Amino acid sequence: MAKKDLIKCSFCGQVRQDLFQGENNSYICSECIESGHKLVMEMMAARTKKEQQQDGTLNLNGLPKPEEIKNFLDLYVIGQDEAKKFLSVAVYNHYKRILQPKDDNDVEIEKSNILLVGPTGTGKTLLAKTIARMLKVPFAIADATALTQAGYVGEDVETMLTRLLQDCEYDVEKAQRGIVFLDEVDKIARKSENPSITRDVTGEGVQQGLLKLLEGAVINVPPEGGRKHPEQEFLHVDTKNILFICGGAFDGIERKIAQRLNTQVVGFDAQQKADKIDKNNLLQYIAPHDLKTFGLIPEIIGRLPIISYLHPLDKQAMRNILTEPKNAITKQYEKLFEMDGVKLTFADDMLDYVVDKALENKLGARGLRGLMESVMMELMYSVPSQKDTHEITITREYAQERIEKTDFSRLKNTEAI
Ligand code: ADP
Repeated sequence: MAKKDLIKCSFCGQVRQDLFQGENNSYICSECIESGHKLVMEMMAARTKKEQQQDGTLNLNGLPKPEEIKNFLDLYVIGQDEAKKFLSVAVYNHYKRILQPKDDNDVEIEKSNILLVGPTGTGKTLLAKTIARMLKVPFAIADATALTQAGYVGEDVETMLTRLLQDCEYDVEKAQRGIVFLDEVDKIARKSENPSITRDVTGEGVQQGLLKLLEGAVINVPPEGGRKHPEQEFLHVDTKNILFICGGAFDGIERKIAQRLNTQVVGFDAQQKADKIDKNNLLQYIAPHDLKTFGLIPEIIGRLPIISYLHPLDKQAMRNILTEPKNAITKQYEKLFEMDGVKLTFADDMLDYVVDKALENKLGARGLRGLMESVMMELMYSVPSQKDTHEITITREYAQERIEKTDFSRLKNTEAI
């Protein structure tokens, strides 16, 4: 410590009692040390974040917390709070697991793949896609029914990993930390347990193949552009750290849940317990046992420790989907027209009408896009050439006129946007 009388801090210039002496008779006070330290830490954090953004890889510092992940999902996905929370925690833990510094004595965190159960068109794919977008990790969508019984040696798995590789310019390291959304896992349930199965897949054999993938298998994938020359090496992609988000409608599983709940509700307060069960939303009680009775093998269930469910979309949710997400359909049309100098407005009752039509024709949220496209097509064709049009309001009457001319069977096949 320096002599205390009348000595000034060389940084802030104040006479201080708490000075530390440096070289060449320079001094620094504890306050300046503290602000200097803070500044250095901030600079280091900013640099790490910048580096991470530049090379696009995740690190523990830059990993968003579950609440941040959920907030991001809220921007794009309407409702489904429960599923969003489960996903946010699972994804956070997954990346913590693969980013943890290696230490042999450390507790080994196990991989937690996720299963989302819920009707088709309620946001399962959208949730998975949005998380991948937030974390800037490669993402691929695959269909479990395309998996062959041979499992991980099938061409199908290669295709899935090729998609993942294409999403990161064939950077194998990055692909190995990607996310795969595997849809329709309910369709590979054992047939005997599942009367609703429609496709001809062999159930258990396919599940064994999937199991290998979930556990981690090294798959040979042809290099970019395919293997044009025999001597060209395959890429070896290890699925150990790929996060699999599985989805399925599991039609009819409510019955299995109800049966289980009924047999569980015994004892003197049985009636009270039974009354507490919300029979309109049985999916919320889904448990591993129900998946087993549905026809998934226990090993697969063991590899999907995180199970969550999605609600069917009600009228209000469908209405919100039209206007609220960051890239909502109406906002996209408004932007397109704005680029032609036209202010586009949708009347409230017009949007209600579109939602009613989607519900009436059982088109789900996927159909909203198709319906809006039917309404807007003529205008998108003619307005760009109309120099005097600066404002357009889409009324219910106009929408009705357009939609009445629409072939609904075509809309039923509208794929996700
Ligand atoms: P799933 O995978 O459950 O069958 P998707 O996630 O593919 O359904 O949803 C299909 C489309 O419907 C999405 O691309 C999106 O446009 C819309 N959609 C469905 N659910 C939601 C939701 N909860 N919030 C916002 N949009 C949704």
